[in-house]
Amino acid sequence: MLTNENTWPTLLGKLAVEYRTLKAMVTIYCQHHHHTQILCDDCRHFLQYAHTRLDRCPYGEAKPTCKICPIHCYKADYKEKSRTIMRYAGPRMLVHHPILAIRHLVADRKPVPDKPAPGASNRHQRKAAASRNTSSQ
Ligand SMILES: [Zn+2]
Repeated sequence: MLTNENTWPTLLGKLAVEYRTLKAMVTIYCQHHHHTQILCDDCRHFLQYAHTRLDRCPYGEAKPTCKICPIHCYKADYKEKSRTIMRYAGPRMLVHHPILAIRHLVADRKPVPDKPAPGASNRHQRKAAASRNTSSQ
């Protein structure tokens, strides 16, 4: 089911940057292939799925880029769509969003952290923050 992006959980720090990068790539891909001004439903659905994966990534902000990540968290068909989008939009990112593109290329070369720390995921962090807020009231 498609929901409004404004209702999606907030991604923190590096995860928010990664999401912006991903959204820029999906937008390039969709505009060139599906010829819509706004994202088509299919691409929005993909983006929503990817957003959830980022929220739940056990590495949280220490997350390696998806390309080098040892955890394969995407379902097969989403993974395939992701590959297709990256292959197309990757090289074009340098033209349209050079800063995001370079940050991502640099991140691709960072070593993968050994093991995710317990409770590192964005979802865990925001739930912990929410319960701190309620208990302090
Ligand atoms: Zn599309």
